[in-house]
Amino acid sequence: MKCQAAILHGVGQDWRIEEITLDPPRAGEVLVKMAAAGVCHSDDHYATGDGIMSPDLAAMVEAGGATVPEVFPLLGGHEGAGIVEDVGPGVRSVRPGDRVAMSFIPACGSCRWCVTGMTYLCDAGAMLFAKEMTTDGTARRHLGDEDLVAMTQLGTFSEYIVVAEESVIKIDDSIPFEAGSLVSCGVTTGWGSGTVGVGTQPGDTVVVVGTGGVGINAVQGARSAGANSVIAVDPVEFKRDSAKLFGATDTSPSIMEAIPLVREITHGVMADRVVLTPGVLDAELLAPALMLTRKGGTCIMTAVPKLEVNMVPLVLIDMIQSAKQLKGTLYGGMNPRASMPMLLSMYRNGHLKLDELVTRRYPLDRINDAFADMREGRNIRGIIDFQPK
Ligand SMILES: [Zn+2]
Ligand SMILES: [Zn+2]
Repeated sequence: MKCQAAILHGVGQDWRIEEITLDPPRAGEVLVKMAAAGVCHSDDHYATGDGIMSPDLAAMVEAGGATVPEVFPLLGGHEGAGIVEDVGPGVRSVRPGDRVAMSFIPACGSCRWCVTGMTYLCDAGAMLFAKEMTTDGTARRHLGDEDLVAMTQLGTFSEYIVVAEESVIKIDDSIPFEAGSLVSCGVTTGWGSGTVGVGTQPGDTVVVVGTGGVGINAVQGARSAGANSVIAVDPVEFKRDSAKLFGATDTSPSIMEAIPLVREITHGVMADRVVLTPGVLDAELLAPALMLTRKGGTCIMTAVPKLEVNMVPLVLIDMIQSAKQLKGTLYGGMNPRASMPMLLSMYRNGHLKLDELVTRRYPLDRINDAFADMREGRNIRGIIDFQPK
């Protein structure tokens, strides 16, 4: 079939709306008609070039035995929800007519990581930027004669998508598509980072650095987990004000200004947990982030850095003698197949704010406006709406 989709052809270019060709779903695959797709920083990293590896890093990756994928032309989009139109042979978890949310990491359910409750580390993740499907190693998405890379094996900026069953999660018929789309990436990643990812305990002081579409959910997650104080750090006033509606008790325009604030709030102890969720993770953030972290505390990195070999300044003696932890996280440490239905149930019961996250909606052909608004800090979350009402 043919449909319209947003394609990126190279760094520094705009997204172009083009007609693509999708093959029918084969064994273990589903065809989904998209309803809503979130506009997230991770897609923009390819337009800005932040997501492209430097030659140094590419050499290190190849020395480690992995291949560096060619990402262009890129069918964008890794958040979204829609309705199943067709399924290939052997698909059991969904059928035509089901509402589904996408998972940006397909989980096979049988590898070592999946069976030990870490589906975000599934071995299928090695194929996130392959042109071929995880199911049988052949391509389904084409632009003219060329095969497309679909962002994280999804490519949700398209009227229809063909994806592995492993990449879709059935959601209840009563859940609006926008809510399904929101838990598909940003909400789950942020909420998980502010709860299980960073290990928030009742009474904790938690600092969240960067309160856009991901960080603001780390704020509401931290409050859900019982944090006593949640300090939201963001240079954009609108985002600091929004963070207060999601449970932030204090705000700061910069990480450096947050240090004396947190010192005062905690009587010199500093924060139990620090969550790093800016649009792009700069190496220079790490030293002040660890100054914000109390002895024995935890700082987690959720945001994606520029893919360069960064020299990271860390005060090692402080980390060691104060027993501080600095850790990376994927999907906020959540297992999407379990956590998305749970978060949507919390939403239905009024314990998770989702509708309030959507600042603006765009038709697919205005996707460049959506990214411009995101870069300018005008949106908490922008949504591509495939069914303008
Ligand atoms: Zn995302
Ligand atoms: Zn797996």
